[in-house]
Amino acid sequence: MHRYDVAIIGAGSAGSLAAAMLGRAGYSTCLVDPLARANPEFRAEKLEHAHIEALSEAGFLDQVAQAGRRYDTIWVARQGHLVEKRPSVEYGMDYAAMVDAMRDMVPDTVTFVNDKVVDAQLGEAGSSLVLGDNSTIEARLVVAATGLNASLLTALGIGRRTAAKCHSISIGFDVKPVGRDRFDFDSLTYFGEHPRHRVAYFTIFPMPTRLRGNLFVYRDKGDPWLGRFREDPVTLLHECMPRLRRLTGEFEVLDMPKLRPVDLVNAVDYERPGLVLIGDAWSTADPVSGTGASKAMVDAVRLCADHVPGWLAADSIPAARIAEFYANERKRASDAHSRSVSLNARRLALETGPAWTAYRWLRFAGSRGRGLMTDLFKPKPSDGGAARPQWQP
Ligand SMILES: Cc1cc2nc3c(=O)[nH]c(=O)nc-3n(C[C@H](O)[C@H](O)[C@H](O)COP(=O)(O)OP(=O)(O)OC[C@H]3O[C@@H](n4cnc5c(N)ncnc54)[C@H](O)[C@@H]3O)c2cc1C
Repeated sequence: MHRYDVAIIGAGSAGSLAAAMLGRAGYSTCLVDPLARANPEFRAEKLEHAHIEALSEAGFLDQVAQAGRRYDTIWVARQGHLVEKRPSVEYGMDYAAMVDAMRDMVPDTVTFVNDKVVDAQLGEAGSSLVLGDNSTIEARLVVAATGLNASLLTALGIGRRTAAKCHSISIGFDVKPVGRDRFDFDSLTYFGEHPRHRVAYFTIFPMPTRLRGNLFVYRDKGDPWLGRFREDPVTLLHECMPRLRRLTGEFEVLDMPKLRPVDLVNAVDYERPGLVLIGDAWSTADPVSGTGASKAMVDAVRLCADHVPGWLAADSIPAARIAEFYANERKRASDAHSRSVSLNARRLALETGPAWTAYRWLRFAGSRGRGLMTDLFKPKPSDGGAARPQWQP
């Protein structure tokens, strides 16, 4: 039997970042996950502003960013028109590469336990975890970063409430322009042209070794459109975004598209002594919002920076102390932002009433205005500002 200050269950983005921070701070920590390296699957594929901010605060941005492909201009199209060439640093990378980069930041002083937690006895003076091989781990604080896998939390009597079933469907695939080496842009974000197309947006961006396309749509799981998309993605992409070709030219889809419907889910009845939930184990985000992984990282950073030191300095960790984390102002702001973008993006894409139509045109005008200002104040080569070379595959 091993006794730790902190046992983290789940080595995804939330758990790995927490383990890296607590290990670096010198807490005796173990990280438990059945997979020695992250499972390659279609999940978050970009580090955007909020991810970059959280990783930067944690002090791990440079290491994680190395696993990705940096780009720093995003072409934004609304209502089928290019409205903005937005300067913004982002990184394209597979989710597994992102998680493995975080796992690689975990110091050797943290014990990695290659197993699954199947049960737990929780208490404010210390908890005991039962592993798949029947061995046990003792820890003063247990962090559940188990993602979408609800089996352990269900065994502990913690529920999950579905706020929206199949809120959106994410579709991921590799793309390549036809007859050219590259697109005219580094990255493109193309919002749905009209509610009847049921498109939130389509984005093309570079990954370290390939170009990637992510399409986010609002459709039922059983919609035959999804089957047709799998069979002929290029035709369907142009059908649901009729003006897309003006910006992309001809392109091909290189692999079988991966389709992932996503529910919005929150943990309920989660108050337990000695146990805190972070990341998707606490609540999920709509991939359209691009906030699930950043929210998980904010959880890890706030937990480790603002709460764990105080909790471990006390003799016990009752549920009332854990509640301080759930009430953390910056965590709550991150949760609220994620949920409101998740809900509003759907309405922005689908609502047909005059108010939402007007709002869409307002967003169009706002982006266009920003785009014009950016163009106006962009350094010219004659001012000493050199044109940045475009990304090449
Ligand atoms: C298709 C799709 C696209 C997305 N796109 C974006 C995006 O563009 N931007 C964004 O920010 N977010 C996006 N997200 C959301 C984002 O991927 C998740 O919010 C984020 O990965 C959650 O991280 P996590 O650490 O909480 O969970 P995970 O990364 O799922 O990690 C959970 C870990 O827990 C382990 N585990 C589970 N149960 C146990 C157990 N009993 N014992 C031990 N280990 C256990 C698992 O093996 C896993 O390693 C997307 C999600 C999907 C599905």
